[in-house]
Amino acid sequence: MKILKEPWLQEKLIKINETVNLEGFVDIHLHTSPDVKPRICNDLEAAQQASDQGMQAIVIKSHTEPTSERAKIAEDISSMDVFGGVCLNNTVGGLNPRAVDDAAKMGGKFVWLPTISFSDMESDFTEGIYKKALEEILQIISQNDMVLATGHLKPHIIFSILDDARSHGVKRIVINHPLTSVVGATIDEQKEMTRYAFLEHCFVACMPLHDYLSPDKVAEAIEATGYKRCIMATDFGQKHNPYPINGFKLFIKSMMDRGVTQKQINTMCSKNPKDLLY
Ligand SMILES: [Zn+2]
Repeated sequence: MKILKEPWLQEKLIKINETVNLEGFVDIHLHTSPDVKPRICNDLEAAQQASDQGMQAIVIKSHTEPTSERAKIAEDISSMDVFGGVCLNNTVGGLNPRAVDDAAKMGGKFVWLPTISFSDMESDFTEGIYKKALEEILQIISQNDMVLATGHLKPHIIFSILDDARSHGVKRIVINHPLTSVVGATIDEQKEMTRYAFLEHCFVACMPLHDYLSPDKVAEAIEATGYKRCIMATDFGQKHNPYPINGFKLFIKSMMDRGVTQKQINTMCSKNPKDLLY
């Protein structure tokens, strides 16, 4: 393990390494290189590190390029499952059914709705311009038993898509980091979302240089919506943050410090992500 730059993290990690076990856990949100942004590790390193911890699976995500193919290579070299998919930003043609079809053929598992391109597309979403493309996309997701992830969409758009997704028979749905400023879902909205989807909480939201959200807010949201519909993930991979496996340990420890039990952790880091994926 490379030495972390931040002294407070180093100190914390020494203790955490002894107490937090990632065996059988799944991190459904990682950013690895190659990427247009600098990343702390590549696909193979992330898979190897997770495998060394005895984790069951990771999901690698890119905002700009498909990761289905990369995930296959990473899976081949590690003794664990690695999933990828496609994020429907401008670089793959936005809400492009052909990109989704291709991801499905390559064994991709995730279809993330727009993230970094969402602001360019927001008015078209609201005006229903994507309706036909979205229906086609939901159909492909459903036929291939893929996971629909809501990216950076706002709650009012998420709700209309959840209805469409259900009518197309999409069963695997996750709401990406609802507490972040880009999504901004209230607790009541999150409760409503749990009727159809898992809520993904990412530790990166608590980091300086990101939302710098208090971990108290995450613990409160888990308590309010119920841990049975939540998934804990990191969204790590940035050069300025710890390795994803260490981010995962820090997240788990910070939730346990706030009263989340080991049983609840196991549900949110193992059972629920597995129910989403398998
Ligand atoms: Zn992300």
